[in-house]
Amino acid sequence: ATCIGATELCRNVCYGNGVRYQTAGQKEKRHRNLRTVELLLSKGGPELLAQNLLSLIDQAKPGDWLAASVAGRKTATPWSIRVHDVGDFHKISYVNAWWIAAQQRPQCSFWFYTRSFAKKHLFDAMTELASLANCRGWLSIDSENFESGLLAYAKRSDVWELALLQETEDVLNKDLLPAVDECTTAKQVVSFPVHRGRYHAPPIKHKSLFSCPAVLGSYKLEPDPRKPRPCQACAFCLPDPSTTPSVEVQL
Ligand code: SF4
Repeated sequence: ATCIGATELCRNVCYGNGVRYQTAGQKEKRHRNLRTVELLLSKGGPELLAQNLLSLIDQAKPGDWLAASVAGRKTATPWSIRVHDVGDFHKISYVNAWWIAAQQRPQCSFWFYTRSFAKKHLFDAMTELASLANCRGWLSIDSENFESGLLAYAKRSDVWELALLQETEDVLNKDLLPAVDECTTAKQVVSFPVHRGRYHAPPIKHKSLFSCPAVLGSYKLEPDPRKPRPCQACAFCLPDPSTTPSVEVQL
């Protein structure tokens, strides 16, 4: 319901179609989350929702956070949050809630992918969020929406990065990669070959593309919470660690 910029391709390959999200319990959980978001926004605006987000963010602190803070050393795994695994930014007040929460937790790294870039006011609010030193925002494009995605990117290429949902080469729009090359110069675009389970489309090798190693199967899922998860180990999509203070005593 919140994916206001979804394309046909991303609807077809969405994680949300997977078994993990399709059980009655999971569906109800996500509907409940959305109802809670809307209720908190209606009762107390972004500030109230941000309080709720902060408690979720704090639950994601690494287990050794306190000990590392006191000892002045790094935690064994980074403190990082991907905003949304399914769903997207659908209204400005919701974006503003994440902005408040992220700027109140400068030690935590945030990153997100979005297709909600067509509406100017929403794009402007998301640009504020992606501008935070501890946050990185990725405009998600494919054959269907790349023209509007690249237009949005060109407006604030100092802030945004590009993420490609990569179809097989024979069906990828022929104009897409040349258009990406024109506006990204030295920057790299993270590319997610379309995947379902263990199958993934063959990654396209192209100078401006960096194929996600998790999709390609280079990382095994790590059940031990003391070890980094794939995105924490790879870190390509995360904010630059030099702009995110890693340790601060917060008692
Ligand atoms: S594994 Fe790397 S490239 Fe893939 S989503 Fe995670 S951080 Fe991004």
